[in-house]
Amino acid sequence: MIPAPFDYHRPDTVEAAVKLIADLGDSARVIAGGHSLIPLMKMRMTDIAHLVDLQKIGALKGIAIDGGTVTIGAMTTQHELIGSAALGSAAPIIREAALQIADPQVRYVGTIGGNVANGDPGNDMPGVMQCLDATYHLRGPDGERTVKARDFYEAAYFTARADDEILTAVSFEVPVGGQAYVKQKRKTGDYATAAAAVIIAKSGGNCSAASIAMTNLSDTPVWCEAAGDALVGSSLGAADIDNAVDAMQAVINPQDDNKGPAAFKRHAAAVILRRAIERATSRA
Ligand code: FAD
Repeated sequence: MIPAPFDYHRPDTVEAAVKLIADLGDSARVIAGGHSLIPLMKMRMTDIAHLVDLQKIGALKGIAIDGGTVTIGAMTTQHELIGSAALGSAAPIIREAALQIADPQVRYVGTIGGNVANGDPGNDMPGVMQCLDATYHLRGPDGERTVKARDFYEAAYFTARADDEILTAVSFEVPVGGQAYVKQKRKTGDYATAAAAVIIAKSGGNCSAASIAMTNLSDTPVWCEAAGDALVGSSLGAADIDNAVDAMQAVINPQDDNKGPAAFKRHAAAVILRRAIERATSRA
């Protein structure tokens, strides 16, 4: 399929990109790696008159770890996330999740900003960001603001980002504890049938903190606060993990689709979350 005609813009600063989007209004859309947007355009599922390409904006690239805070520029590719030794050490869950996204061709161009801004419940990074309690940095005509990843997702493809805002970066505190991202998919390169992001901290043999988020089991990623709370103070035994799984089941809302019936997805979610908790615990 061939997309409908569009005008192409390639600003070299965030300010210029924000101004272009404000001036062009509803007919403009930013493009990052294009690996979610271009397929939609080719299938004519979206009609965009102006594409504002962010590739040339150097300020949107890079990974910085400063004083315990990790900041990742929106245009950093999934391949660059995987290749960063510093990030792999500070937050290995990102590398583990990025390695399970699609295939190397997609990861060479797909960006962290596009992955989290898109609002696709099948994308892997939104759940990881919720698990990390990350902050999203947005820039629009009225300046900068931040939104927590846990507050960002409203429905499939609807987020707290205004149409005239660009997501410039994600940031989070270096997490404490063992981390795991476990994903069940139908075949290599596929989106998740169910995936779980888990961070577990231990003290004196018991769980002192836990954060759990699930991917593609609702129309948004789901941060499962009660599931994490069910583990805190426990010895992370089988009954404690059962409690966390039950709490997770109460907040997901899977639907029947080509990945399977909702009941199967609930089963997969339980298996995946158990594995992720056990893996994160073994790394804590
Ligand atoms: P684009 O496609 O350029 O943009 C996506 C959307 O986000 C657009 O609406 C765009 O306007 C908006 N956007 C992009 N950047 C910004 C920004 N900085 N500020 C505001 N809005 C912005 N992803 C997964 O997570 N898991 C998978 O298993 C997976 N499998 C895939 C398999 C295939 C075959 C393909 C083609 C893609 C797959 N993806 C998967 C999606 C891939 O990771 C995308 O690259 C990613 O989701 C979007 O990033 P992008 O940089 O390509 O964004």
